[in-house]
Amino acid sequence: KKRLQSEDKTVENILKPLDLTDEHYKKVMQLMHNDIVKGLTPETHAKANIKCFPTYVRTVPDGTESGDFLALDLGGTNFRVLLINLNGQEVTMESKIFLIPHHIMVGSGAQLFDHIADCIFKFMTDHKLQDRHLPLGFTFSFPCRQEGLDKAILTTWTKGFKCEGVEGHDIVQLLHEAIERRGDMQNVKCLAVINDTVGALMSCAHSDRQCAVGLILGTGTNACYIESLSEVKTWDGDFNEPKQVLINTEWGAFGNDGCLDFILTDFDKSIDKHSINPGKQIYEKMISGMYMGEIARLAIERLRKHNLLFDGEGSYHLATRGRFYTKYVSEIEGDNVDGFKVTKQIFDELDLTSHTEQDCRLVRHVCSLVSKRAAYLASAGIACLLNKMNRKEVTVGVDGSLYRFHPFFHDLMMEKTRALVRPDISFKLMLSHDGSGKGAALVAAVANRLL
Ligand code: ADP
Repeated sequence: KKRLQSEDKTVENILKPLDLTDEHYKKVMQLMHNDIVKGLTPETHAKANIKCFPTYVRTVPDGTESGDFLALDLGGTNFRVLLINLNGQEVTMESKIFLIPHHIMVGSGAQLFDHIADCIFKFMTDHKLQDRHLPLGFTFSFPCRQEGLDKAILTTWTKGFKCEGVEGHDIVQLLHEAIERRGDMQNVKCLAVINDTVGALMSCAHSDRQCAVGLILGTGTNACYIESLSEVKTWDGDFNEPKQVLINTEWGAFGNDGCLDFILTDFDKSIDKHSINPGKQIYEKMISGMYMGEIARLAIERLRKHNLLFDGEGSYHLATRGRFYTKYVSEIEGDNVDGFKVTKQIFDELDLTSHTEQDCRLVRHVCSLVSKRAAYLASAGIACLLNKMNRKEVTVGVDGSLYRFHPFFHDLMMEKTRALVRPDISFKLMLSHDGSGKGAALVAAVANRLL
């Protein structure tokens, strides 16, 4: 009995659940496809996890968009106000980051939008824009059911936000009400709401007409893609040309019905249980930057508790939830194995005093398993969308710090998407630059032209 127990606690056994096979990923693709179809069908939409909200954005930019625009970017780490000038392929922008204090993130909706209005006012004053009539595009990266380009109803907060009185309400109206309460910014009008996935798609499509998918790998994960109206059974807009619409999948919620339980590890379950949204955003919690470091920490702690790391010696920091940042995963995987200088520095930061080369190698192995699984799960999602769209050549516009800064995320995704997608489809993954700002301006420009 004793032998069995110790066999149970080998490194391999503890980490095995993080190592998925192509069969797993193909099953994930199939399940995602089914859920997307559910989301696009009125009779099953309510039961779908992947809501597939139509965005009311019908085309990618044609490159002739021009003028000055304001943009707001809210949806994760930073809140930004931007001033963007579009002029053909030339795009210039100025922006300012404003902090959203934690008490506002979890306070009242009115407080949040008053704060946003104050930030816009400050930005306009600083840039001497008070007297200009500037169309505004709002990149609001939380799940919204849209009823028009300028009407977006928040379904649920995610990523650490939880302001009362916003879920179920139109965020454009809340913004306009806050602007009205100030009484000194009547010339600011929000013409369009998009989310960051649409921003990534639009900004990449501005220079690459093949771009038809937008992907976010940052605090959270989400994707949008161009769908034929004939597939969008929930569509209630017009059927004019082009007969297509961008679909905001909100795929982060994939698995909320338990369909991904077959790949969940104890680490995933623990993260979910301690999150502010238990049972929600299951796929997102296995992939995105808000959680990846924590998955690694839990695995490292499990190994340490079984005396398989650091000679069993832990630390206060290593035992603290959220203290092993996702950027550590990138840094450790990018470290030079000849010396592990950066890895050891991170161990020092975490007050882990007794560590060996072997510990460095094992922690690096844990990090690579966690990021590989994340990249491969995201690849399964992308392969699913590419198969569904059935275009010969597609560019995927990608934004988010996880994709941007992890040393191998791009390569891992290229390799696995290639392995999973139909062989006749060719694709590229393209880094989106300032997608949230540029995308909002591009959509506002199109909306303004149509006014
Ligand atoms: P957001 O998605 O909130 O708009 P980002 O794209 O910057 O903003 O994503 C922030 C997330 O990226 C955080 O969860 C953070 O852990 C993660 N992150 C930041 N730096 C790195 C890095 N060097 N490697 C991997 N992930 C990172």
